[in-house]
Order: sequence, then structure tokens, then C-alpha cells
Amino acid sequence: MSQRSRGADHGEGGRRPLLIGGITPFSTVDWPGRLACVAFLAGCPWRCPYCQNHLLRSFDAATQTDEDLLAFLERRRGLLDGVVLSGGEPLAQAASVDVAARVHEMGFDVGLHTCGGYPERLGQILPHVDWVGLDIKAPWDAYERVTRVPETDEPVRRSLQLVLDAGVAMEARTTWHPTLLSPADIAAIAHDLAARGVRTWAVQAYRHVGTTGELPNETVYPSDVPEGLAELFETFEFRRA
Ligand code: SF4
Repeated sequence: MSQRSRGADHGEGGRRPLLIGGITPFSTVDWPGRLACVAFLAGCPWRCPYCQNHLLRSFDAATQTDEDLLAFLERRRGLLDGVVLSGGEPLAQAASVDVAARVHEMGFDVGLHTCGGYPERLGQILPHVDWVGLDIKAPWDAYERVTRVPETDEPVRRSLQLVLDAGVAMEARTTWHPTLLSPADIAAIAHDLAARGVRTWAVQAYRHVGTTGELPNETVYPSDVPEGLAELFETFEFRRA
């Protein structure tokens, strides 16, 4: 592959290939209740210290393109419910919108994992998406503590509202490391999401394996979740990230 774009956004400017770091052929956990393959798209401008896909944050991590994904899907017709676009941050690449539309046209449902950092592109891709897993990383006034990038809360707020307004099935998910978020932070996130109309929320306990190791090897347990939060949602899950 030549001429890969570097930096935070692999954007418009002619038809660029979708840069993919890897494809997991079958997964039952990346889209709850569905059998899906997962395409891990390259590129992410944020620097969350718990990131387990940090090797994918560079566009240079790509080893495949959308041509590989579509050829793979041709061989999987009838065997998969859908395709999850994950990453990295899938919406860091403009080509994700076109590829989601093409995957939909092939008859596969499309799931999207996103940090919510690209609301304009999210608005473009939503008509081709059947389910969204949206990261809510911190209380709005503490977002930079997790993303290590300033002013990341505002685009996520807009992304959340876009998904809610579109009526697309969604899960909000919060990864919890005890030195990044306190129980009070978790409670603040839960109450804000519930007030906005989010019905499905998952707390994902930090897992040290696969990270850069910059956080202490500590985690949280179901008993750490403040009382009464699960009841704010139709569906609440505590899971290992
Ligand atoms: S937004 Fe996701 S891919 Fe990007 S650094 Fe954070 S956890 Fe990793």
C-alpha cells in the first residue's frame, strides 16, 4: 500500500481506500446478541491510557483495505448477521461511510464502535448503521483526563444526540479504571446518560493486558458501582473490557 495519509484524519480528497488493521472473522461479543465479523480500522487521534488497540492508532498500522473486507464478506454471505466497524476510530477515515453503505447493500447489518469524536461523519454514516456502541469516557467536564486531548467532550455530546435523534439502536459504554474515574464520576455519567434518554449502558472494567502499561494494574468490580445506577437503564451490564 502506498501514500497512506498520516495524522488525525484520513479524510476526503478522492476515493481513498479504507485502511484496516485486521479482521476478526467471527465474534459474539462485539455486537451483543449478534454473530458478526469485526473490521479494526486504523487511525485514532485520541490517547486514552487504557487503549487496548493502541497499535492501531496510526494509519500506518493498516495491512488490508476495504477490497479485502468486501472480498471476505462475499465468502461469508449467509454465515454472518453483520459487520462491526471498530478500531482505532472508524470515523477517522472518510471512506468508512461509503464502505458501510456498500456492506449494507450486500445485505449485512452494520454495527459501529465509535468514540464520538467525528459527529459530522457520524451523521453521514448513521443511515447505513443498525447499531452503535458509543464510548462515554468521562463526565463531560473531565473528558481530557481520559482522552489526553483537549475539547473532546463537545463532539461526543453532539454524537450522542445524533444517535438518539436518529433512533438507531445503541449502547453507551464507559471503561472504568479507578485512577481515571471515581465512583462519583461513574454516577455523574449514569445520571447524565439516563436524563438524555440512553436506555442501554455498559461499564467495562479496565483490563491491563494489551495496554501500553501506563496505568497501574488495578481494576474495579461490580460492587464498586454505586447503588441505584443500574436501575436508571432498561439494560445495564458490568463487563470486563
Ligand atoms: S478513542 Fe478508542 S482507539 Fe482511540 S485511543 Fe481511545 S480507546 Fe484507543
